Amino acid sequence: MPKTDYAIALGSNRRHGNHGSPRGVIRAAAAALAGLGPLKGFSTVRSTPAMGPAGRGFANAAIILSSKLGPLELLRRLKEIERDFGRRAGRRWGPRVIDLDIILWSGGSWAGEGLIVPHPEMHRRRFVLDPLSEIAPLWRDPISGLTLRQIQRRLAAPTPVDRNRPSA
Ligand code: ATP
Ligand code: MG
Ligand code: MG
Repeated sequence: MPKTDYAIALGSNRRHGNHGSPRGVIRAAAAALAGLGPLKGFSTVRSTPAMGPAGRGFANAAIILSSKLGPLELLRRLKEIERDFGRRAGRRWGPRVIDLDIILWSGGSWAGEGLIVPHPEMHRRRFVLDPLSEIAPLWRDPISGLTLRQIQRRLAAPTPVDRNRPSA
């Protein structure tokens, strides 16, 4: 298969024995992804504070990977990396510390065999759109025809109710 580009969202909300904090996990996962092909973009790593007393903070980032792998083969490799990061000493399969989702593919859309691209929740998630629009603002979602920057701005914009509120 000729090389195509993938936009991948990375998220972590657990520490890892070797890689440390969620930020460290994101950096280590990016290094693992670089083993699948050259990284054409790597966003800043953003922290989202915990939502509520029991929650943990998230670290999120996005990368653009150039790869010869097809979408299903890439998904298989992403799941392998997730499994490797979730392994804890003393337990065969520990909790998953990293989530790696395929958000967009330069080959277009894909639906089948447990994979949907573009990722169906992409439009609703600032933790995906903020880092991704930083590195690929002009990439167009093949479904809506909008660029990532446009989608991100729509989500980041105040609601109509907020806009009508008198400014303080
Ligand atoms: P969400 O997809 O809402 O972010 P999640 O990432 O927490 O949820 P996972 O447990 O990581 O969910 O994945 C569940 C299944 O989603 C995977 O087994 C995979 O087959 C499927 N899947 C479908 N589309 C995608 C995609 N674009 N990227 C990654 N996984 C996908
Ligand atoms: Mg996810
Ligand atoms: Mg996932």
